[in-house]
Amino acid sequence: MSQNIENKVVVITGASSGLGAETARHLAAQGAKVVLGARRLDRLESLAAELGLDARAILSTDVTDYLQVQALVDRALELHGRIDVLINNAGLMPSSMLDKLKIEEWNRMIDVNIKGVLYGIAAVLPKMKEQKSGQIINVSSVAGHKVGPGGAVYAGTKWAVRAISEGLRQEVKPWNIRTTIVSPGAVDTELTGTITDEDIAKGMAKTYENAIPASSFARVVAFAISQPDEVDVNEILFRPTVQV
Ligand code: NDP
Repeated sequence: MSQNIENKVVVITGASSGLGAETARHLAAQGAKVVLGARRLDRLESLAAELGLDARAILSTDVTDYLQVQALVDRALELHGRIDVLINNAGLMPSSMLDKLKIEEWNRMIDVNIKGVLYGIAAVLPKMKEQKSGQIINVSSVAGHKVGPGGAVYAGTKWAVRAISEGLRQEVKPWNIRTTIVSPGAVDTELTGTITDEDIAKGMAKTYENAIPASSFARVVAFAISQPDEVDVNEILFRPTVQV
C-alpha cells in the first residue's frame, strides 16, 4: 500500500475506459476507496466486479450535466463521509480542421472537456473547504501546451483546463487543497476513436503507433496523490519517449 493513498476517497470521472479505468485499478490496488462515474454503466459494472467494489461505488454520470456530477460526489459522501481526491478525467478528442465546420463536435468538446471539469470542481469544493483538505486533479494534455494538426478546439479545451486549474490553485490555498494538472502525450486508450475527420484520423494513427500504456498515467496520478500533504504537485507533463 502506498503512503497517503490507502483509505483515501477518490472520485474518478470517465472511469469506464482508458486512463480513468486504469487509474481506478491502480489506486484501488493501493487501498484507495474509489467511486467511479461515466455514462456507460455496463463498463463500470464490469470494472466494479473486477475490483470487488460495492455496487453503490459506481454511478451513471454524464459530466455535461452538473446535477449528475454532484450526484456522483454525493454518492462518495454517502458511502464514505468525505472526499479526498477528485480526478476530472472525462474527455473526448474529435479533432478536425476548422474548415470542416464540425460544430457539434466543437460543442461536445467544450461541454465535456471544459464544463465537465468546472462542474467537478463545483461539486467538491464546498466539502473540501469544510474539510480543509482535498486534491483536485484535472486532466489536460500535451495538447494543452502545443497545438497539433486539427487540434485547434481540442487544444483550446486542454489549454482552458490548465488555466482553470492554475486559477483554482491560487484560490484554494486557505483551505489546504492541492491541485494537480496531468498532461499526457499519446497513451493507448479509446480516445482516438472519437475522430471523424479522416485526414486527421490517419495522422493521429501514426502518432499513436508509439502510444504508451495507460498504466503510465495511473502511476503519475498515484505519484501526485502519494506525496505528503504539504507537497502540492501542480503539474506533470509526460509523453512517449519517441513522441515529438
Ligand atoms: P477514452 O476514450 O478511453 O476514455 C474517455 C472517458 O471519458 C470514457 O470513460 C468516457 O466514458 C468518458 N466520457 C466521455 N464523455 C463523457 C461524458 N459526457 N460524461 C462522462 N464521461 C464521459 O480516452 P482516455 O482515457 O484517453 O481519456 C481520458 C482523458 O485523458 C481525456 O480527458 C483525454 O482528453 C485525456 N488525454 C488522453 C490522452 C491519450 O493519449 N489517451 C492524451 C492526453 C489527454 P463514457 O463514454 O462511458 O461516458
